[in-house]
Amino acid sequence: MAHDAPQATGPSKLVIRNIGLLLSGALEKPILDGDTIVAENGKITAIGRLKDVNTEGATTVVDAHGTTVAPGLIDSHVHPVAGDWTPRQNQVNWIDSYLHGGVTTMISAHGGVTTMISAGEVHMPGRPRDVVGLKAMAIFAQRSFWTLRPGGVKVHAGAPVIECEMVEDDFKELAAAGVKLLGEVGLGGVKDGPTARKMVGWARKYGIQSTIHTGGPSIPGSGLIDKDVVLEADTDVVGHINGGHTALPDDQIRCICEGCKRGLELVHNGNERSALFTLRIAREMGDLNRVILGTDAPAGSGVQPLGILRMVSMLSSLGDLPAELAFCLATGNTARMRALDCGIIEVGRSADFVLMDKAQHSPGKNILESVQLGDLPGIGMTIIDGIVRTQRSRNTPPAGKVPEIISEH
Ligand SMILES: [Zn+2]
Repeated sequence: MAHDAPQATGPSKLVIRNIGLLLSGALEKPILDGDTIVAENGKITAIGRLKDVNTEGATTVVDAHGTTVAPGLIDSHVHPVAGDWTPRQNQVNWIDSYLHGGVTTMISAHGGVTTMISAGEVHMPGRPRDVVGLKAMAIFAQRSFWTLRPGGVKVHAGAPVIECEMVEDDFKELAAAGVKLLGEVGLGGVKDGPTARKMVGWARKYGIQSTIHTGGPSIPGSGLIDKDVVLEADTDVVGHINGGHTALPDDQIRCICEGCKRGLELVHNGNERSALFTLRIAREMGDLNRVILGTDAPAGSGVQPLGILRMVSMLSSLGDLPAELAFCLATGNTARMRALDCGIIEVGRSADFVLMDKAQHSPGKNILESVQLGDLPGIGMTIIDGIVRTQRSRNTPPAGKVPEIISEH
C-alpha cells in the first residue's frame, strides 16, 4: 500500500539560473559553488555553472537575479488538526502562511517552510484518548495531510499521543498503516520514564520516530517532564529542549545534552535564553548537527508564519552563529534526523527551495551579514517538488532583489 504524496503530472524540468549565493543546508559545506540548479520531475539533477549543466528542454526557467537559494525550510514541530485550520487560535490558512515565510516541509510554507512535522494532533476538539480512537485519528491525520498539502507544503502528520493502555501490537498496527511519528510523549497519559521507554522502544522497533515534551506544562492539564524522564524515555528527538513554553533549569538542559546523542530541538514557542544556552553547549560538544528547529505552533503563543526564519536570525545574531550554519539547523539537520529527502541541495533530493535576499534597508552588506545582525531576509519565491508555489512573500519584508519566472511551458 502506498502512502506517498500526490506528485505533479507530466514530465517537468526546472532551471534556476543566475543564483547569487547557494546555501546547501549541510553543515560540513554550507555554501556551494554554482549559479544554476536543474531539477527534473521534482528531483535535483544538476548543480553548477550555467555553461556546464544541461538546461535543454526546460519547462520552467527561473532567473534568480542574484538572490540566494536555500533548501526549503523545515519546521520540525507543529500541531496541525484538520485541513488548513487550527482550533487553537481559530485560524484558517495558517499552513499556507508558513509557506510565504519559506518553510516547505511542515512538519506547513509562506514563511519559506516547505515541510512540517507533526508533534501530535493534540488540538483536535474532542481528541479521543482510548486506544482504538487515538489510532484511528493518527491514521486519518497521516492520510488527509499527505493528500491535502496546502500550497504544496509537505505536512508529515499522524502522530499519536501514547496512552498507558497501549500494547506492542498497537505500534505494529500503526506502522503497517503508514504512521511514522509519535506525538510528544508526556502530552497523554504516559508521563513516567519506564512506561515511556518501553513504548518508545516498540515504536522504534516498527520504524516510528519519537519525540517528547520537555519542560514545564504547556497548558493547564499537562505536566512537567524533567531530565530524568527525558533521558529514560530515550526518544529520537528531545522535543523543545528550550521548553514549550517553560524550560528546564540550565543544569538539567546540560544533563540532557551530555547524557544522550539524540536530536536537540529548539522552538520559537519556547524560552529563547534556554535555546541560546542549548546552542552553546551543543557547539562546545561539537554536536551542532544535533540541533534542529521548530515553531511548536499553533500554540498558546499563536501561529508564527515566520517562526523558523526568526529562529535562524535569533540564533545567528544572539548566538554568534554564522548565518550559513544557522540555515542548516532549519534544513539539512532536520532532514537527516527525520530521514526526509529534502533539506539539502544535492543531486537526487527533492527540489524544494526558498529564494531570498537581504531585506530592503537592512544594514548588512549581504544576506548573511543581515541575518547575523538580527534581521529577517525577504523571500522572493518558494519551490516545492520543482514547482513554483509562491512568488514574493506576503509575510516577509520586501527584499532588495527578487527572482522571476522568465519562461514556462
Ligand atoms: Zn510540547
